Amino acid sequence: MGDERLPEYFSEFASIGVESTLAAGVVLWKEGDPSDQVVLLLQGNLEVTHATESGDVIVLRILEPGAVVGELASLDGRARSATVRARTECRLLRVPAAEFRATFRRRPEILESLFCLQVERVRSLTERVTRVHDRAIVDSLTRLYNFGFFKERLRLELERADHTGDHVSLVIFDIDHFKHYNDVNGHEEGNVALVKVASLVKGAGRRGDIIARYGGEEFVGLLYGASSEDAVHFAEAVRKKVEAAEFAGGKTQPLGRVSVSGGVASFPEDASGEKELIEAADRNLYRAKSGGRNRIVPAPEGQAPA
Ligand code: GH3
Ligand code: MG
Ligand code: MG
Repeated sequence: MGDERLPEYFSEFASIGVESTLAAGVVLWKEGDPSDQVVLLLQGNLEVTHATESGDVIVLRILEPGAVVGELASLDGRARSATVRARTECRLLRVPAAEFRATFRRRPEILESLFCLQVERVRSLTERVTRVHDRAIVDSLTRLYNFGFFKERLRLELERADHTGDHVSLVIFDIDHFKHYNDVNGHEEGNVALVKVASLVKGAGRRGDIIARYGGEEFVGLLYGASSEDAVHFAEAVRKKVEAAEFAGGKTQPLGRVSVSGGVASFPEDASGEKELIEAADRNLYRAKSGGRNRIVPAPEGQAPA
């Protein structure tokens, strides 16, 4: 082998394994194949791929010389968990799974090297999963949570409140005459205004409040432990901040400024479930719009649960 990039313990397998080459593009093994050998990569690049449900093939990892593949499956005997293919022409050392296990029983320090390899792999995987997860729950324009995350949390928070007897309040905000803003100032300026309103809503929340982009120019505050009164307080703070903020196209808006309307609803007073709570907040938002905009409407006094 003689390559200084290869781990020292590779030489341990030189006499046991069989060297072979794999032309670029050729599959080493497919997901689901039996795990009868461990492969040490001596030269070239292998890629670990996964076929998505839609049939696209995505590359999960690219392996450099010195990589070991299939070692975990050699231990637990499970089928291959991913497809591995040669990205460039590769030189491999194929070691039968049983021989591989026998070798590190004889030389336990090899196990330590493999363990470090696993730790590194888990670390980079954890970082990737965290990044992908963050991307999946955050709206790319405003950096607020997205609608999917809000819905998920609403379900969980209502479950929690059901047990504890705590309040949960919702405020849905909608920017007033935003179509007009876009028409006069252009979509790009509209985006700038949207991001600014988003940060004002976020800034008015307390730690633990979930502030999300509900839709196009609509935002929602999910306030755990907040009574209707607390929620109105938050909503009014947002409304005043937006009213007072400078926007490039504020003066040409029908109300002479950029503003938001908001509808408030609280669990358990106004609704007994997710859908009803959203509907109640939405109804109040509609009331705020028809009442002249730039206002917050809480649930009417004595409204029966929906
Ligand atoms: P109202 O006061 O009744 O809410 O009037 P409106 O014009 O805000 O209401 P409408 O729902 O008719 O218009 C919403 C507008 O928001 C239309 C759409 O082009 C704009 N919008 C939605 N998402 C985005 C976005 O991501 N960027 C920009 N620039 N505009 C958006
Ligand atoms: Mg709207
Ligand atoms: Mg609007």
